[in-house]
Amino acid sequence: MSRTTSALTRKALGNASPGRFAARLIGVRKSHRTPGGPAVEALRGVDLAVPTGTMVAVIGPSGAGKSTLLHCAAGLTPADSGGIHVGETSLSTLNERALTRLRRDRIGLLLPGFDLVPALTVRENITLPVDLAGRGRVDAGWSNRVITAFGPANRLDRRPRELTPGERRRAACARALIGRPEILIADEPTAGLDTRAADEVLALLRLAVSDMGRTVLTATRDPYVASRADIVVFLGDGRVLDRLSAPDQHEVLLRMRRSESAAPARHRRAER
Ligand code: ADP
Ligand code: MG
Repeated sequence: MSRTTSALTRKALGNASPGRFAARLIGVRKSHRTPGGPAVEALRGVDLAVPTGTMVAVIGPSGAGKSTLLHCAAGLTPADSGGIHVGETSLSTLNERALTRLRRDRIGLLLPGFDLVPALTVRENITLPVDLAGRGRVDAGWSNRVITAFGPANRLDRRPRELTPGERRRAACARALIGRPEILIADEPTAGLDTRAADEVLALLRLAVSDMGRTVLTATRDPYVASRADIVVFLGDGRVLDRLSAPDQHEVLLRMRRSESAAPARHRRAER
């Protein structure tokens, strides 16, 4: 992206009216240190706005920086520089305790490796975040709605191992939404699922946005998954290369190819 476009985006983001964006990243840079080796620049000045009540998909090849971006947006990893806002809250103003509270109360996480607890029933898994936070924080109407929509009917009292991979993923979505988060951050939510199970998960993420008033920020390598979002952001080598609203799958694929050819592999090592 050109310097001018980036400056314009930054201006637009800075002028955002309250409540318009569930999350914003402005000029975010992030390097990962490697033991004994040079730092890896995963994000090199990313501007991204997630309008409230939409689903935004970040798409890019493996190593593009998608997971790093999601971790920064969720306050799991501090950025090296730049601004990150969840709603109107700037993450850099929060101490560790406030950040933990923000993650618990305002963000839903669906991350690879966040498996269900084998010893608990599916229902206990789904309600675990609110149970840990203390009952009464979320109204029963919301919990029932989430469990009804996402939980595998008739199998709520089973253990996770008795479910299909698709059902387990849906239960993990329910667990991420049970606290009624302002934003659901979902890293490769359909990875490892067959087409049908992936479609069911995507339909539920759409439902969370259209019927349940949530906002979703997701990352994927799959153009089909991205085409189900409202906005697609193309990430390559730690930079936003393109954006697309109301995408269709064919257009996503075309832009992906264009982004990839416009951004040949660069040196990724930070100079330090
Ligand atoms: P993606 O999710 O798009 O595959 P990542 O955000 O996982 O991309 O990674 C971006 C870059 O940062 C890659 O080069 C990756 O190897 C590197 N990276 C990610 N996490 C770490 C880490 N914890 N330590 C060192 N390098 C990392
Ligand atoms: Mg990743």
